[in-house]
Amino acid sequence: MKDIAISATALNNSIRIHAVCTTAMVEQARQKQDLYPTSCAALGRVMSASAIMASTLKNENDRYAVNINGHGPAGTILAQADGKGNVRGFIGDPHIDYFNEQTGKLDVGRAVGRDGYLRVMLDQGLKEPFTGTVDLVSGEIGDDFAAYFVKSEQTPTAIAVGVLIDKDYSVASAGGLLIQLMPDTPEEVIETVEKTVQNMKPISTLMKEMQSVDEVVLSLFPDAEIMSHKDVQWHCGCSREHFLDSLAVLKEKDLEDMINEDHGAEIVCQYCCTKYTFSEEELRAILEKRHTCGK
Ligand SMILES: [Zn+2]
Repeated sequence: MKDIAISATALNNSIRIHAVCTTAMVEQARQKQDLYPTSCAALGRVMSASAIMASTLKNENDRYAVNINGHGPAGTILAQADGKGNVRGFIGDPHIDYFNEQTGKLDVGRAVGRDGYLRVMLDQGLKEPFTGTVDLVSGEIGDDFAAYFVKSEQTPTAIAVGVLIDKDYSVASAGGLLIQLMPDTPEEVIETVEKTVQNMKPISTLMKEMQSVDEVVLSLFPDAEIMSHKDVQWHCGCSREHFLDSLAVLKEKDLEDMINEDHGAEIVCQYCCTKYTFSEEELRAILEKRHTCGK
């Protein structure tokens, strides 16, 4: 199934549904960062939730940045997603492989930790980006995003995100589902949604079994009306120029150390792991430019 985000309404227009298939983008992240299963599941869940959020953006240049840190061994998890459907993410420790014998599932909560926060930043090109933060609920990601939506949008929300890892550690399927109730939703609709969410198979299983994201949504809510489709994809967007700019704001002493001790600089993009090297001359040019500008 191709990576795509869809939006729909169902139950007589009383709920809004967003669903996303993210199998290919999570597999890209796995290959680039050499992710082990639990790290892959944690990052893939965050990327899936971020992809859903980005699919609701109206402007191409608007951008969500999600930052999660539960003080567990996984460290910080970052994901960025924009209005073009470009998504990238990375996880502090890519090599976590925890399995929970009791649940028979990858132990994402243990890897992420529960003592921390989920922070969402929305950059719409305004002076101040919007920022919202919630304490982590379980570190399992889905619960944590649900808490965020309830707090920030004050809308009752159900969210499922999941990654299914194959025997060879590749990503068999990944995706997410977000259900939001419209204001004044009748009680029987709330019960229907609760029952559907409780009884549904894991979202990653549905993404594997079905032929399209439309089919996944229709299998859960047969009266769903699909409103839109939007491509989503892994895209890092890093560049040599970007990292050269980041070198240009370093302290003079640090640049001099790089010139005299390392004879250049090497920067590895933490998202796509592309390596950029900068020569001694390029670093000198930064210092010279600074001096001629009188800084
Ligand atoms: Zn990159």
